[in-house]
Formats: sequence, C-alpha cells, structure tokens
Amino acid sequence: HAKSLGRGAASVFDPQMDETAQARIILERDLRDALATKAFELHYQPLVELGGDQVNGFEALVRWRHPEQGLISPATFIPIAEETGLIVPLGDWILDQACRDAASWPSHISVAVNVSAVQLRHRTFAQTVLVALASSGLKPERLELEITESVLLDDTESILETLHLLRRTGIRIAMDDFGTGYSSLSYLRRFPFDKIKIDQSFVRNADSAADGAAIIRALVGLGASLGITTLVEGIETEAQLAAVRAEGAQQVQGFLFSAPKPAAEIARMLAGHEKRAAAA
Ligand code: C2E
Ligand code: MG
Ligand code: MG
Ligand code: MG
Repeated sequence: HAKSLGRGAASVFDPQMDETAQARIILERDLRDALATKAFELHYQPLVELGGDQVNGFEALVRWRHPEQGLISPATFIPIAEETGLIVPLGDWILDQACRDAASWPSHISVAVNVSAVQLRHRTFAQTVLVALASSGLKPERLELEITESVLLDDTESILETLHLLRRTGIRIAMDDFGTGYSSLSYLRRFPFDKIKIDQSFVRNADSAADGAAIIRALVGLGASLGITTLVEGIETEAQLAAVRAEGAQQVQGFLFSAPKPAAEIARMLAGHEKRAAAA
C-alpha cells in the first residue's frame, strides 16, 4: 500500500507496486505542483429559493485542470488532499478565491464554500476565513460554510468553538449531505446550523422514491420547527422539483437549474441580469 511506504522510499515506476498505487503517487506529486502553479478553478452552481424561484446564492465547487488528464473532479483529489494535508493550503486558496468572486456579484447573492474536516480542525482556520473576508471586502452575511457530519465526529469541543466564533460574525453554517452520516439528528442539537442540505440520494433513487419523499417531508418539518432552512440537493427533473416543492422545502439545487459553471460565466450571467433590471 502506497501510504505505508516511507516518503521517497519507492520510485514512481517501482515495478513492485500495483497500477492503482502508482497512479495515486503520481496524482499526489501532481497535486503538489498544481498548488504551486494554481492549477485549480472554482465552478459555481446556483442555490434556488423556491418561494419566488430566485437564485440567492452559488455553491463553489473546485476543479483541478490537470495538464494531461484535463478537468479532474474533487471526488478524486479532495480525499488525497485531505490525507496529505494539502487540503489546508488548497482550502485557503478556495476560500480566498470564492470570497473574491462573490464580492463582485450583486449584494443579495451569497456564496457557499465546502470545508473539509481536516481544514476545520487546523488551528488557523478561523483566521483564514476572516482574512479572506477582509481582503475581499465580502460581508460575512454573504458567506456560508458547508460542513459534513464527519466534521463533528471527533475533536468536537474545539471544532464547535471555531464554528460558534465564525457564526457570531454573521457567517452561516450549513450541514451538507444531511442524512448520509451517523447520528444526524443529535448533531442538530449540538450546533445551531442555519441550513441543512438534504442529500441527493433522497431524490435520486427511483425505486425508493416514496421513502425518499417521506424522509424529505420529515426533515423539512424538523427544520421548520428548529428554525433551520432546508435545501434539497440533486434535483434533475421537473417531477423531482414538484415533489420536493410539495414537501415544503425552501431551497433546491441541481442539474435541472444548472450544472456548476466557471466563475466567468456566472459573472457574465449576473451582470446581464443587473443590466436588464436597471433598464426595466
Ligand atoms: P457536495 O458539496 O455535496 O456538492 C454537490 C455535488 O453534487 C457536486 O459535485 C455537484 O456538481 C453535484 N451535483 C449538483 N447537482 C447535481 C444533480 O442534479 N445531480 C447529480 N448527480 N449531481 C449533482 P462535485 O462538484 O463533483 O463535488 C463533489 C464533492 O466534492 C462535493 O459534494 C464536496 O463534498 C466536495 N467538494 C467540491 N468542492 C469542494 C471544495 O472546494 N472543498 C472541499 N473541501 N470539498 C469540495
Ligand atoms: Mg456542498
Ligand atoms: Mg452535498
Ligand atoms: Mg457531497
């Protein structure tokens, strides 16, 4: 296993190593280079308020533009970045870039940034967030941090402290992929989340669509009684949208509205909207 080998103990093309391990080591090396050359880009996917079908924010989703392999998905490299600690400098860049991008958008549009457990546990995390806000001029009220349940599994006291500190500045905290981890409900009592993002698996699986709808209904009801906004992820069809609307969800996100798009495209689209609004 690649991880058990000491640093530099094996050459990249060690014939003893299986292909997966080699590919992994190459990717790890390339990831270090990518950080140095800033080979990452942020794409943005709209968050849609169901009341007036208005876009009220965008989620930043990182992509890696690899010199040979093209655009690489975060599902491939975020785990490697987490294991190697590279997620800390990468996460700093993501926060800074997302705040800069959002600062140029209309003031009612927020940005949501995914934060991994490793990043959040790092002692400089709160500082990084506050510096990103200060240097971009983005108001804390326009920043939402998305964390997953795994964040709350360990080291809870210091993590809760960090989250509370950030939330007091006006930053919102969302729990991502809600319903896929452990003890989801108890976490809602441990920390005052502003939003839960109900995992896309609940709208995805057609076979269990009825169960999915029942779970969404229950979570929306729970959110409403706790004063937490509920968003349903992964809406791909009009039928799913209608079902989720009927269950009372406040926000949605998914390919039906838009896939994640490069920052420049979002900026163009928002500028077009502003112009039309001004002309009207
Ligand atoms: P996530 O935060 O739950 O993000 C939602 C993922 O679902 C995104 O995948 C998005 O493109 C995808 N998605 C959105 N709508 C639909 C839909 O209608 N159908 C389907 N099938 N998928 C949809 P993506 O961009 O590949 O990101 C995957 C995961 O990687 C994210 O899940 C998040 O956990 C992580 N990630 C992405 N960007 C970052 C980042 O900047 N930092 C950290 N720490 N993690 C990130
Ligand atoms: Mg997310
Ligand atoms: Mg999610
Ligand atoms: Mg996810």
